[in-house]
Amino acid sequence: MKEQIDILVNLQNIEIESAAVRTHLNAASRQLELLTRDQVQIENGINDETVKISELRKSYNDAESSVKDNQGLIKKSQERLNSIKNNREYQALLKEIEELKRINSATEDQMMNLMNQTEASETKIAELQTQLQALMVDIQKEQDCINLETQTADKKLEELDTARREISDKVDADVLKLFHKIQSKQVKGIAVVPVQDAVCHGCYVNIPPQMYNELQRCDSLKMCPNCQRIIYWKQA
Ligand SMILES: [Zn+2]
Repeated sequence: MKEQIDILVNLQNIEIESAAVRTHLNAASRQLELLTRDQVQIENGINDETVKISELRKSYNDAESSVKDNQGLIKKSQERLNSIKNNREYQALLKEIEELKRINSATEDQMMNLMNQTEASETKIAELQTQLQALMVDIQKEQDCINLETQTADKKLEELDTARREISDKVDADVLKLFHKIQSKQVKGIAVVPVQDAVCHGCYVNIPPQMYNELQRCDSLKMCPNCQRIIYWKQA
């Protein structure tokens, strides 16, 4: 039985090591995922600002042609002023010209405002692009690191898997079945634990004296009455 227990402990260590390798790889992938999410966010920001700029430019062009149209109207009206004899008509046309000038002045203010907004968006895009460049360097580094780690980890996992299969073959089928059954119920997959000074190292509860005596004989498979893990005696 001692030999079977030793094999189980070995098997368990291999499985713990495999799990640690996988956890490490997952953490690295997660990190890359977060960086990629930042990348998408920045790219979306750049797209939003680009769309905004094209809308601002369109508004600016519309305003500009409206000012030009009005300037044309003003010019025509000013020419007409010379030929008007009637004072009331003259005053009315003068008023019309003033109104067009007022509208153009307001539109020109608006154009200035549109230009300032465009500049602000351009500055923002430049900032985002700087951020993106730095981020892409980080992403590349992380990717290279993951590629390297994955290679090493895959090799390690393969070795561990081979070792696991070899070891599994040496365990009694029923014992192995029990081991896996207990393992599936435990959070960290620890199914075999030592007992030192009558204390189970899975749950840290004392096991009954009678059982502790039997355990030290190592002649049968025992389970902790408290946590149900397979236990073995380990000299304190
Ligand atoms: Zn226990």
